[in-house]
Amino acid sequence: MIEYKSSFKTVYVNPRGTSSECPVCGDKLKHQAWGISKCETCSVDYDRDRLASLAITLRGLRLCGYP
Ligand SMILES: [Zn+2]
Repeated sequence: MIEYKSSFKTVYVNPRGTSSECPVCGDKLKHQAWGISKCETCSVDYDRDRLASLAITLRGLRLCGYP
């Protein structure tokens, strides 16, 4: 369905752990409230859904050869 709907090439990534890993330092995040992930190392709170979207994008870019 994704390939059918998209006019771009589709890259599939493993979504496992995308809302549990800090995109800055890579540490495991804590989920103290619904929908919010906190990195204690960076002292930053993330919206869990947006964080997962960002992590999936970064994984896709890495598969395409971007750092
Ligand atoms: Zn962090």
